[in-house]
Amino acid sequence: MTIDDGPALTYVLKAMDEAEKVGGHLTFFVTGRHLSQDPQIARIITRRGHQIGNHTWNHVALAKQPEAKIRQELGSLNDLIVKSGGAKPTFFRPPYGSHNAFVDKIAASMGLKLAMWDVDPQDWNGKPGAQTVSIILSHARPNAIVLMHEVHNTYLSLGAIFGGLTKMGYTLVRLDQLPPKSPKPAKKPAAKPKLKPKPTH
Ligand SMILES: [Zn+2]
Repeated sequence: MTIDDGPALTYVLKAMDEAEKVGGHLTFFVTGRHLSQDPQIARIITRRGHQIGNHTWNHVALAKQPEAKIRQELGSLNDLIVKSGGAKPTFFRPPYGSHNAFVDKIAASMGLKLAMWDVDPQDWNGKPGAQTVSIILSHARPNAIVLMHEVHNTYLSLGAIFGGLTKMGYTLVRLDQLPPKSPKPAKKPAAKPKLKPKPTH
């Protein structure tokens, strides 16, 4: 389970409470511009056994940036997280899904693995929380990565989402608790062009 675009303390505490009620853990993809307003959140997330991922400092489309900017966006946030008592991120999620081989290589050199998603309720667009709940529950499948955002309607629905998934038999885990995604073919590289992810917030 992943929650993007924070962190705000109230949201993070509620999300962790709701996840812990069902024995679950979360990954928060935070931005530097938000975390820098309340850096202690990094320590709180790590101490409670949840995970912090890197969502860039300024929420930029990384594929459009030169190398120095990519390094700065990811590196400055990693530094802030560690300085604030959080565990050093091992995953980055590119804002808008904007990444390419160049971005991935630079991130990898900084110890960051790419983290996209499988289930996207597009909860940022103001839809009622009940719709977000129903999209997530109807699209859930084993090892799927669910993308949510720190938006109000989702905040109100966290208990329904986590409780619903648990009733269906799922355990909510951090990204680093999932088996590795889509291993690359061992012999022959895929010839098919890759589908671009839909732009999302
Ligand atoms: Zn985002």
